[in-house]
Amino acid sequence: MPLSVADTLPEAFKEWSFTEEIVDHEEAIETCYLCGQENIRYHFKIKNQYTNHKLWVGSHCILRFDVAVFDDGQQLSVEDAKKKLDKLTEKMQLDSCIRALQRLAKAEDNVILTSALEYYQKNKKLTPKFAFVVFWRLSENGVAHNPSFFKINLRKKKYRKDLAEMPASRVRYFWSALTTSQRQIALDLGHSPPPNI
Ligand SMILES: [Zn+2]
Repeated sequence: MPLSVADTLPEAFKEWSFTEEIVDHEEAIETCYLCGQENIRYHFKIKNQYTNHKLWVGSHCILRFDVAVFDDGQQLSVEDAKKKLDKLTEKMQLDSCIRALQRLAKAEDNVILTSALEYYQKNKKLTPKFAFVVFWRLSENGVAHNPSFFKINLRKKKYRKDLAEMPASRVRYFWSALTTSQRQIALDLGHSPPPNI
């Protein structure tokens, strides 16, 4: 409100729009400057069209307060705004996985790791065999990463077969990267989650 022209809240929010600027702070250490929510990892910048004030906020506040989100000059519905912000977040998560894989490939002279990086850049997923080596080496090298951002490819029959034949101890390395339905597939194949999950 103090940064807006209008004197009622709903009117004030109409003055604001998303600027398309986003920042990944790598860890959930930031604050939403609209509602004060802490432990935010991603910041989205909004701007007041009259006062030119800018604020870094969480995507939740853009949606909650109906801050305008545009695409090709068109203001999006709340539903489409959510889709767009989700897509931007997903892109930041993909980029963060690629950065982790790049750091790992640099840390070790290992052809499997450079192939895994290339595969991820192309397919945005890891095969189960790559996943085991990548997660094992990420933790051995202390490379910061969020396992749940990684995606595993189980679509092909070959990858489900690889998963079936893999020792259970290896599957546990990338358990947290599996989706709920992929975990079910792993359980059906006789695998089990690591003790801390
Ligand atoms: Zn907020």
